Amino acid sequence: MSSYGVDHLPGLPGSITVCEVGPRDGLQNESGLIPVEAKVELVERLVDAGHTVIETTSMVHPKWVPQLADAEEVLRRVDRKPGVRYPVLVPNRRGLDRALDLGVTDIAVFGSVTESFSTANLNRSVAESLEMFAPVVARAREAGLAVRGYLSMCWGDPWEGEVPIFRVVDVATKLLRLGCTELSLGDTIGVATPGRVAGLLDALIAAQIPVGRIAVHFHDTYGQALANTLTALQHGVTTVDASAGGLGGCPYARSATGNLATEDLQWQMDGLGVRTGLDIDKLADTSAWMAKELGRPSPSRAVRALTGA
Ligand code: MG
Repeated sequence: MSSYGVDHLPGLPGSITVCEVGPRDGLQNESGLIPVEAKVELVERLVDAGHTVIETTSMVHPKWVPQLADAEEVLRRVDRKPGVRYPVLVPNRRGLDRALDLGVTDIAVFGSVTESFSTANLNRSVAESLEMFAPVVARAREAGLAVRGYLSMCWGDPWEGEVPIFRVVDVATKLLRLGCTELSLGDTIGVATPGRVAGLLDALIAAQIPVGRIAVHFHDTYGQALANTLTALQHGVTTVDASAGGLGGCPYARSATGNLATEDLQWQMDGLGVRTGLDIDKLADTSAWMAKELGRPSPSRAVRALTGA
């Protein structure tokens, strides 16, 4: 906890849930293969730091994401604690079967609101991707699972530029109709600014999408992630995606995605008196350890300030 004082701002929730995406969204972008022991330790240390939602791995085919080819082993080895959710990304029916066999209770499907990214990432149009998700979501819900639907490129797309709000509203509405229990709005290339965040959230809420079902997933590519998060909280959002130490945002890779660092978020929430259940010192120590494992400094400002890592 920061010892520099706490002052509340009006219009913010008393508490939020941080959805930690480092072990999946962060590590999947790492080129050097990370040993399964380190992945398991990362997840367990993050739980020890207070996390209750940790996206742990992905059932995507190892051909596409070799880094997460050990998904089953990670899930088997992590000491899953009661009261903690360990969501797993599932691309299709087969992935869902594998997840169910391992006793997974939370899954996520990864969609796009733009045709360009849907084609590049899933080799399917947006409509075809929703057709692919339909039986997966239905079967998961029948089995009592929670299902998060990711919407990537909500505020901008590298091929299409600005993304019209109606497209996001359309895909969001369809994912909820399929049975998704939560929607995560992704600023995949980090181009959003607070006014545009407000505009999209207002439109989604006006389209009867319950704000309690909306999570935000900001990337810090242009340094806007915290400002965008604060705006989302002022609009009633209470679930925020973040990545331990900013994993996924390798400052030396051209494909830097720049996930919002959990510690940067936590510093702000601590100062605002918004409860997360997270211990910033434990988070920062964990990220400093992970940075050492990866052989480069953490891109998180808070991790560097707190640990010198
Ligand atoms: Mg991300």
